[in-house]
Amino acid sequence: MVTDFKRIKMKNPLVEMDGDEMTRVIWEKIKDILLTPYIDLKTDYYDLSIENRDKTEDLVTIDAANATKKYGVAVKCATITANAQRVEEFKLKKMWKSPNATIRAILDGTVFRAPILVDGISPLVKGWKKPIVIARHAYGDVYGGVETYVEKGSKAVLQITDKNGNSKYIDVHDFEDSNGIVQSIHNTDSSIESFAISCFEYALDNKLDLWFSSKDTISKTYDHRFKDIFNDIYEKRYKDKFEEAGIEYFYTLIDDAIARVMKSEGGFVWACKNYDGDVFSDMLATAFGSLAMMTSVLVSPHGYYEYEAAHGTVTRHYHRYLQGEKTSTNPIATIFAWTGALYKRGELDGLEELKAFASKLEEAVLSTVGQGYMTGDLVSISELPEKTRLDLEEFLYKVKENLEEML
Ligand code: NAP
Ligand code: MG
Repeated sequence: MVTDFKRIKMKNPLVEMDGDEMTRVIWEKIKDILLTPYIDLKTDYYDLSIENRDKTEDLVTIDAANATKKYGVAVKCATITANAQRVEEFKLKKMWKSPNATIRAILDGTVFRAPILVDGISPLVKGWKKPIVIARHAYGDVYGGVETYVEKGSKAVLQITDKNGNSKYIDVHDFEDSNGIVQSIHNTDSSIESFAISCFEYALDNKLDLWFSSKDTISKTYDHRFKDIFNDIYEKRYKDKFEEAGIEYFYTLIDDAIARVMKSEGGFVWACKNYDGDVFSDMLATAFGSLAMMTSVLVSPHGYYEYEAAHGTVTRHYHRYLQGEKTSTNPIATIFAWTGALYKRGELDGLEELKAFASKLEEAVLSTVGQGYMTGDLVSISELPEKTRLDLEEFLYKVKENLEEML
């Protein structure tokens, strides 16, 4: 323990959203071992555990999201999303909505997922040297679609009625010879604009190029609308800022984007429509090594930030932990959620010390893994010749050792 270190004072609080199961255990240990000895932590605390969400009729989630609007920066622990089995397990009053969905609806943001690269763990794609950050437009399209089964002999027509009651009709398909299926999807200019602004802001903030891709050659009105909105906002509000920052925005067809992503060396933000983002974020997480090494930040177009790990509450490890086992659960993504939030807090409040601490803690984590000390999930994928498998607490203390050498 460094004795001459003066704990860093904060100005404004971070919104702290506690969570469930193994990640709740990790949360407390990170604070005890790596944060509170060095920072006079100021947080506005909300307990988003499933028990407390149930007790408060989920109002605690809404309060936490509103607090994020007030203070601007939040850090969130993984939480259980209720399903039938969880309702039974915790005797819940009802199947509460996913906290992430509730928070996102209130903050109106876009989720950016970024892999954490460490020495000894190479991405499956050989050329990738830097992270590829993926941004998914989490509204509309097939996720907000309606669909139905159609019997042979039916006709599908799309009807649009304007505010004066005038309708226009678009033929979809005449199911003369066969049964079939039909689907209708939508999006809104305002949601696409929010998405675009979040993407431009994130790219500027992190000094990364921004790519946006869709299938506008086939979808000449729908996908083309996305392309036009991105272009308009770029030209009007971001072109100069991007040039000043030395970064680039470009649009390309989704097919071309895939080819370029595979051949790239990484180091950019890839903005995706809802379905593309859903699918390609899983591909990227796997290709970069592990879900336990993926961070996630919700960026709202109004300037609010919420940081978290991309993985869930690691239930299987928690059950072993409850039986007294020392599990080798990887805390890296959760540590990076804290450092991301602390860095942003420091930036907004002009606290260089806090920013520097956040960066050093990240460096300490990376060098610990680089020295061969890691949790079990990484041992199996690391190419380092000498590896030591540590349990959660041992790993955190090893990081602390490295951190103290830097302070
Ligand atoms: P998960 O918690 O991400 O865990 C799936 C598996 O991935 C684990 O069993 C473990 O594999 C491995 N893993 C994930 N994170 C790890 C870590 N930090 N260290 C080591 N291994 C790790 O996903 P899940 O089991 O599907 O979901 C559990 C709960 O989390 C669910 O209730 C779900 O609703 C919730 N969830 C929350 C969020 C969120 O809050 N953002 C996101 C996703 C899921 P092994 O067991 O093989 O070691
Ligand atoms: Mg997916």
